[in-house]
Amino acid sequence: MEKQSELRFGDFALAEPLQRAVAELGYEQPSPIQAQSIPPLLAGHDVIGLAQTGTGKTAAFALPLLSRVDCAMRSPQILVLAPTRELAIQVAEAMQGYARYLPGFHVLPIYGGQSMGLQLKQLQRGVQVVVGTPGRIQDHLRRGTLRLEKLQAVVLDEADEMLRMGFIDAVEDILQHTPDSRQIALFSATMPAAIHRIARTYLRNPVEIRIQSATKTVSAIRQRYWQVSGTHKLDALTRILEVEDSNAWIIFVRTKTATVELAERLEARGYACGTLNGDMSQALREQTIERLKSGQLDIVIATDVAARGLDVERITHVINYDIPNDTEAYIHRIGRTGRAGRKGEAILFVAPRERHLLKAIERATGQTIEPMHLPSLADVADRRMAQFKDQLAEILEGEDLSPFETLIAEFQKESNVGLGEIAAALAFWVQKDKPLLPAAEKTPPPILEAASSGGRRRERPRAGESRPVREGPIRAPSGGGEEGPMGLYRLEVGEQHGAQIKNIVGAIANESGLPSRMIRKVRIQAEHSTVELPADLHASVLEHLRKTRVCGRPLQIRPLSGGEESGSKKEEARTLRRAPARSAQQSPKKELSRDSTRKRERMK
Ligand code: AMP
Repeated sequence: MEKQSELRFGDFALAEPLQRAVAELGYEQPSPIQAQSIPPLLAGHDVIGLAQTGTGKTAAFALPLLSRVDCAMRSPQILVLAPTRELAIQVAEAMQGYARYLPGFHVLPIYGGQSMGLQLKQLQRGVQVVVGTPGRIQDHLRRGTLRLEKLQAVVLDEADEMLRMGFIDAVEDILQHTPDSRQIALFSATMPAAIHRIARTYLRNPVEIRIQSATKTVSAIRQRYWQVSGTHKLDALTRILEVEDSNAWIIFVRTKTATVELAERLEARGYACGTLNGDMSQALREQTIERLKSGQLDIVIATDVAARGLDVERITHVINYDIPNDTEAYIHRIGRTGRAGRKGEAILFVAPRERHLLKAIERATGQTIEPMHLPSLADVADRRMAQFKDQLAEILEGEDLSPFETLIAEFQKESNVGLGEIAAALAFWVQKDKPLLPAAEKTPPPILEAASSGGRRRERPRAGESRPVREGPIRAPSGGGEEGPMGLYRLEVGEQHGAQIKNIVGAIANESGLPSRMIRKVRIQAEHSTVELPADLHASVLEHLRKTRVCGRPLQIRPLSGGEESGSKKEEARTLRRAPARSAQQSPKKELSRDSTRKRERMK
């Protein structure tokens, strides 16, 4: 591991445009699977890699294989077989990203369920890489619409999944259609006998790659994870930052670009934070670490490379904002807390499709990582109020207030109001910039056009505007009827993908900024869902929602006419009618009183 940690992408003989793309993506160093796969693949060897999604395996095969692609030639040179259309799209998108500086490069995802005509048109235009599910690739081979004579390499991605899904014969059939000279890379999380047989039959002296991870004890550190759902990661992070009892934090992300982006976004929310990444000079890194040590800085966003060996006793919390590519990195990251025999807290954000990485980490550490509940807005309010009271008590105890007492007495005489009211007005004043009762965090893109079109009011403040605190949690609920016409929309995610009403409502609310009362009648069908949203959603919001993912799939949202929906009504569907009158900010208020009572009891 230590030897690998010194490796850089520049150490590989990757083509220059690929090096440039990797640098731009902000990858600092190859992940273990990349370190081991890139050299043999570049040298033309066949490879068997025991690795799962999330370990960086796409780049592990894409970078070396793309290094040899001839973009002047418009016939498929690389074929990637993947078990699901979701993975095929994901891999195709990643390859497009890595090949961004290869002029004339085209990659085509091919999967069942998509129009054959569209695929044909794109194949005729000419592509260098095809990423597809075995069934549909076989269809094209049979029809003669996909020709593989010029193929240099085949990648079998998630081979064990393809086996489980009954694609193994199709995979063999496709392999038999490829030239003998082709190179094969086979990736699989496990090695069942049938996959072994494929490897023995079709791969030539393959280099076998297995990522070993040592078991280590990290017992002084409490480890929790939050399953990313509904709430945006950034919102979740700020709630955690507010509510946890902490001293200093280190937040890990995957790339150096992400360190800067996250720092900027946290700063926009009022958190002072530093960054540690491989682009910074040693002097600058040391300066940041000094500021963290001395307490001038409480939050640092870091990459694995830049935080190696970091030893700052004040760090109480490690947040894995992006899950690490391998278990070694996780063990290293969380070891930045719990220094010098102290206790530490480690929190891991896990997206649904990263759950297998969570399991791998648990296996490697031999410890269970507990699920955590995200603090509610009410918890945040509770915490702010407790801090407010502490501060008041501190001031009453430690400061000479006599000049102010005279001033207040004078004001009370002049205005004839009670001391309680005056104190409340002062409290309102001091918390204006950071309301004690936080409004929903998100400042989304404008969704509803301002008054001119239909006299509709804007739903949320624009960036930089603050909502007067009294308007928030105690505002009377507004009726559903005033909002204007609603329309029906189709989403390409359904029950069979694991979609649930809460994921859909959460994702739409977070990504569009629509209040939840305007997300109605979610019906989950087998392969898709429908939802009612305002009929006049702004084009930019629709575009954003089209790409928003639920259960790993882009929503591909599109408005439906009434007729299109009627057939699907017969399908079995679960329906949710959202309570029209509930404002997004009501529930925190209810929870608030309950939580404050709880906390007060704890404090007694
Ligand atoms: P994969 O296992 O290919 O699905 O990759 C998982 C995630 O890791 C993707 O978001 C990649 O962009 C990211 N990734 C891959 N390689 C690296 C690397 N060397 N450094 C940082 N992030 C990476």
